[in-house]
This record gives sequence, structure tokens and C-alpha cells, in this order.
Amino acid sequence: MQIVSSAKALLLKEFVAAFFLSFRYLLKPKATLNYPHEKNPQSPRYRGEHALRRYPNGEERCIACKLCEAICPAQAITIEAAPRGNDGTRRTTRYDIDMTKCIYCGFCQEACPVDAIVEGPNSEFATETREELFFDKQRLLDNGAIWEREIARNIAADAPYR
Ligand code: SF4
Ligand code: SF4
Repeated sequence: MQIVSSAKALLLKEFVAAFFLSFRYLLKPKATLNYPHEKNPQSPRYRGEHALRRYPNGEERCIACKLCEAICPAQAITIEAAPRGNDGTRRTTRYDIDMTKCIYCGFCQEACPVDAIVEGPNSEFATETREELFFDKQRLLDNGAIWEREIARNIAADAPYR
């Protein structure tokens, strides 16, 4: 065994293999050459920008159970809740996510019993200031409205594996 490994070292086997591997990728089409006009396929489990969803009738899905807030390992979520004026149901009066703390672990989405908070497919939300990454409830609901079709499609595609 010692002789075989010495021979491999002497003939630079790993170096030659790495060289050919690099050369092969050098000649392949670049994955990001035409970005942002062309993008690679995205997994339904992709964890991008957060969104709060509504039901098709416009009702907020979130029932203010605070499971997402409790499970968040980065303590990025802050929720305040109160009975809603017109029907007395429990709703959030404040739902903030500090995206500068978020580590995109997806635990909030996993914990939510009503698929209200989700990580959508959007990854292009770079900002120029830190303050823009403090998402409030309205921002999250707006994200939900913008991305609902893609989010619903991704959840349906992932459902058989849950
Ligand atoms: S993705 Fe993880 S870190 Fe980010 S808000 Fe959700 S639970 Fe917290
Ligand atoms: S988003 Fe989901 S887990 Fe978080 S408080 Fe609302 S219902 Fe509960």
C-alpha cells in the first residue's frame, strides 16, 4: 500500500486529475454568463425573501400563534398580537423581521401551522441602507401579494415530500 501511495504522489495523480477537471469546466458554458437576463432553475425549496400570505378571499393567514417567533434561532422576528376589532379573532398588530439577523434557516416557515410566513423565491432584494432590511408587516404582506403565485406553486410542488 505504501508503494502505491508513493507512486501516486510521485506521478502527481491528484494534481493531474484536478488540472483536467479545471480544464473541463473552462470549456463548459458559464452558468451565470447571461445573468440577470437568464437565470438557472430554482428549487421549490429555495429560501429567499420572506413574505406573509393571505387566503384567496384576502384574509390574513397568520393567527398570531408566535411559533415562528419562538423558533427563530436568530431572534429576528418580533410579533405583537391583539384581538381584531370587528370579529375578536387573534391577529398580529406588529410583525417585524430584522433581515440583517436572519440566517435563512427556514425554521419560521416550517413552524407555521397555516403557511402564513414563507420564504419566497425572490433573492434580488439588495438594499443601499441597513434600515431597508427591517421588514414590517406591511412590507411582508406586500411581498406575499407580489409572489403569491410562485409561492403557492412551490408549496404544491414540495407537498409530496413533506
Ligand atoms: S429564516 Fe430562520 S433566522 Fe430567518 S426569520 Fe425565519 S427562523 Fe428566523
Ligand atoms: S406566521 Fe405562522 S407561526 Fe408565525 S405567528 Fe403567524 S401563524 Fe403563527
